[in-house]
Amino acid sequence: MKRKPNARPRRKTAARAIDFQTDWTYAPAPESTGHIQLRERYGLFINGQFVNPKSGKYFATTNPANEKKLAEVAEAGIADADRAVRAARQAYETVWSRLSAAERGKYLYRIARIIQERAREFSVIESMDGGKAIRESRDVDVPLVAAHFFYYAGWADKLAYAFPGKTPKPLGVAGQIIPWNFPLLMAAWKIAPALATGNTVVLKPAETTPLTALKLAEVFRDADLPPGVVNIITGGGATGAALVNHPDIDKVAFTGSTDVGKLILKALAGRKTKYTLELGGKAANIIFEDAALDQAVEGIVNGIFFNQGHVCCAGSRLFVQESVADVVVEKLKERMETLIVGDPLDKNTDIGAINSRMQLDKIQAYIKIGRDEGADFYQTSCKLPAKGYWCAPALFTNASQSHRIVQEEIFGPVLAIQTFRTIEEVLEKANNTPYGLSGGVWTDKGAKIFKMTSKLRAGVIWANTFSKFDPGSPFGGYKESGVGREGGLQGLMPYLQLA
Ligand code: ADP
Repeated sequence: MKRKPNARPRRKTAARAIDFQTDWTYAPAPESTGHIQLRERYGLFINGQFVNPKSGKYFATTNPANEKKLAEVAEAGIADADRAVRAARQAYETVWSRLSAAERGKYLYRIARIIQERAREFSVIESMDGGKAIRESRDVDVPLVAAHFFYYAGWADKLAYAFPGKTPKPLGVAGQIIPWNFPLLMAAWKIAPALATGNTVVLKPAETTPLTALKLAEVFRDADLPPGVVNIITGGGATGAALVNHPDIDKVAFTGSTDVGKLILKALAGRKTKYTLELGGKAANIIFEDAALDQAVEGIVNGIFFNQGHVCCAGSRLFVQESVADVVVEKLKERMETLIVGDPLDKNTDIGAINSRMQLDKIQAYIKIGRDEGADFYQTSCKLPAKGYWCAPALFTNASQSHRIVQEEIFGPVLAIQTFRTIEEVLEKANNTPYGLSGGVWTDKGAKIFKMTSKLRAGVIWANTFSKFDPGSPFGGYKESGVGREGGLQGLMPYLQLA
């Protein structure tokens, strides 16, 4: 057939339309870093000042998104930990325990307000040092940090009414060790209740994410917090161990891996030191056939991908009722394909960088284990940046209870999916894990929610939502997920003697 001279070549038009669709992306919208002031080198924050470490050692903290060094930080040794504990003890005895509760509260309110004022700076540094997407650090982490200080500020002068019939008294000096997944938020979870209850603190942030804790030291100084009330020592496992082994610590608060939690328990055996341990998790997110499936898919994505799977309460096991399994997995894959992995500082980014090379290696090793174990693997086709540590969101279907990817904590954006038919079956499977930190239930039926929440052995269970936090609700686990609660009224208890 002869074509008219001006007729449009059809195939080309179609091709152009397809190109338009596949090439379409958001324009980059990176958060500026011009306002960030980082020193080249940080000492230890002891007795209200940054001091050089007696160890003489420093190490670099890098940006996992581009592998560039951000700053050097001190590596505290045994003598440094001792110096920090002595400063905390002195501040406890001479200042903090003598202040009225209302005065303590005033300091906490002041700290909360300064954090709000400097929120942008804190979120940018958190994303640079830890790799998490700015949307998470800006909209979740930093607002919650301020909220925790406000919340516990409110308790400071009401402790006498918190536990009827009891007279609460502080313990003394708290040694606090935190991980890299929520560096600033974990610092707030630990420091705010400790100070509200009249204790002083030595905090050790994780070795890969020390910067926001060191910036928090500046806030304490700006708030005129008396010197020695909070001391911050940086370093790795050996520094943490030096703090735990110090004989003049009255309380250890630890968040991290179950393996290190067990080491800490051994070190504390036979001592009077109180402790709380918030350890690993392997949360079950359970979708019933009567759930609002689109919302549930969004909840799954929120629970395991937006946070890179870097949370101990990540919904890393998904149980879907058999009748809707195919449709849920299909919807989930479609949604996963739209997730943007890349520059943590870009406001469009859904999934930032993996925190460290070591963690990326661990995640990749688990992906290999899952494939070798025979589960079906799927990973999105998104393009990853050339430099830095990245993992595209991934899932396994046809996973089974005995698989290591179902039993062990991967701490990455990797989901293991299983199906179920009855409530009894899913309860049995969901509880069959050494952990018991958190879980999620998605259903249209309130009665089912109550049945599930009373039978699931997990400290926190979300219903028709996932990964929501509030300073007023306690958080903590069963079994190997830990001992004690943080947050809420319950979060005061581990820092008090209740005579
Ligand atoms: P993660 O797997 O989340 O990195 P870890 O348990 O290894 O968890 O680390 C959590 C925190 O515990 C970090 O601040 C780390 O430096 C510290 N840590 C590691 N080993 C020890 C130890 N033996 N004693 C005390 N703290 C430790």
